[in-house]
Amino acid sequence: MANFYRDNDDIQFLIRHTDVAASASVCEEGFKFADEFDYAPADAAEAIQNYDMVLDSLGQLSAEFIAPRAEDVDRQGNVLNEDGTVTRAKGIAEALEKMAQAEVMGFTLPHRFGGLNFPNIVYSMAIEIVSRADVALMNIFGLQGIAETINAFASEEIKQRYLRDFSAGKVTGAMVLTEPDAGSDLQAIKLRAFQDDDGNWLLHGVKRFITNGCGEVLLVLARSEPDRSGGLGLSLFVCEPGPTVHIRRLEDKLGIHGSPTCEIFFDNTPCEIIGERQRGLVTYVMSLMNGARIGIAGQSMGVAEAAYRLARDYAATRKQFGIAIERLPAVRDMLIDMKMAIEAGRALLYETSLVVDMEIGYAKRLESNPPEDKTEAKGLKNESRKYRRYAAMLTPMSKYYCSEMCNTVTYDSMQVLGGSGYMRDYACERYMRDARITTIYEGTSQLQVVAA
Ligand SMILES: Cc1cc2nc3c(=O)[nH]c(=O)nc-3n(C[C@H](O)[C@H](O)[C@H](O)COP(=O)(O)OP(=O)(O)OC[C@H]3O[C@@H](n4cnc5c(N)ncnc54)[C@H](O)[C@@H]3O)c2cc1C
Repeated sequence: MANFYRDNDDIQFLIRHTDVAASASVCEEGFKFADEFDYAPADAAEAIQNYDMVLDSLGQLSAEFIAPRAEDVDRQGNVLNEDGTVTRAKGIAEALEKMAQAEVMGFTLPHRFGGLNFPNIVYSMAIEIVSRADVALMNIFGLQGIAETINAFASEEIKQRYLRDFSAGKVTGAMVLTEPDAGSDLQAIKLRAFQDDDGNWLLHGVKRFITNGCGEVLLVLARSEPDRSGGLGLSLFVCEPGPTVHIRRLEDKLGIHGSPTCEIFFDNTPCEIIGERQRGLVTYVMSLMNGARIGIAGQSMGVAEAAYRLARDYAATRKQFGIAIERLPAVRDMLIDMKMAIEAGRALLYETSLVVDMEIGYAKRLESNPPEDKTEAKGLKNESRKYRRYAAMLTPMSKYYCSEMCNTVTYDSMQVLGGSGYMRDYACERYMRDARITTIYEGTSQLQVVAA
């Protein structure tokens, strides 16, 4: 049976040789949940066995169900109906249903909300596996960051309302930041958040380029402090679709056709604030975007892997001048370069994900169970600071490297296939179109350089 997890020797190698056990331990907070939840692991070995099992079933679903539908998804795209609702491409809707059944829509959410509570390093593997099958689908699978942000910063009431539904795959989210005049520069956001006489928050204004803006839980960055320009005038809000949320347009775009990109008009939409006022951009969205950047690095890995394999297999069978073209040095060099670049990207991404797991783990430990001993507390704080700094540097590096790399790899993949690669008979041209967005969204490559 085809399996995008089992057939990838490099992922298999890295899962054995990266310190996944350390991630498991911080995520499970010393495996303290084992007494409370039947399915929570009691030790690192059990946790790793769980990761392996879930990745195995996701690998099979990706290879056997999702990948065979990706071409149709690309051709169909999504449809904006007259009543303002969006109909997803059939293959995307079916895949989301399967993923919900496989219980992989709450990958990193805590056990108490029905999530798997898996570490980021395993989530990065999952994202790569899904993206290799369908780059566009990953955009919806990868929006689990919305649930993570709610879990990290929202009130208990908001968590209770949404998080179980995220885990069950009953709702999907959207990250609603970009506006016509605020793209890279999110500090320029204008969409207004204001309170009515009863103190209820409402949203008014336009957002554009919103992936899955037709989802059920929208996290919206808005200007809550009209007199304050810049990032400190912004707060984060959660709202749901309804009569005041109008999807005005679905973008007609180069690639990722299965991922709906929406323009949304909020016409005095009721909403609730996440966390504290004025921390919307500087704390909550920065955290959300850092997670999403790692997600895009994983998405880039998936499309690069798919393109490389297509080129490698084609070069092994295509004959010119009486030999398989893989034996021609110029072609062989391209294939070797592609493979090396992919393995470098994967190593960087997994190391970054591991560092992020440690960063989150130390922060959680300091918050929930700070040591009484001063020296121990100081040591822990230093470790926490160290991982925070590493994560702040490695995250944009991974996003930059993996996204630029997948563009080179998909470009070269088409070169290896020659004229056939240019035709729609092969997935090559789709991979190239799908890869192109990765250096643009979640912060362009130029912005990653600034961030690193
Ligand atoms: C398919 C798609 C899906 C998207 N999904 C979402 C989503 O779900 N949610 C959301 O909120 N947004 C989303 N976006 C928006 C996306 O994040 C922005 O397009 C992106 O951040 C760039 O902003 P911009 O398009 O306004 O370009 P601009 O900010 O206008 O940038 C134009 C150029 O200027 C460069 N530039 C700008 N500032 C600097 C600087 N300081 N230093 C160096 N160079 C700079 C950029 O690198 C780029 O080359 C999506 C976009 C697309 C195309």
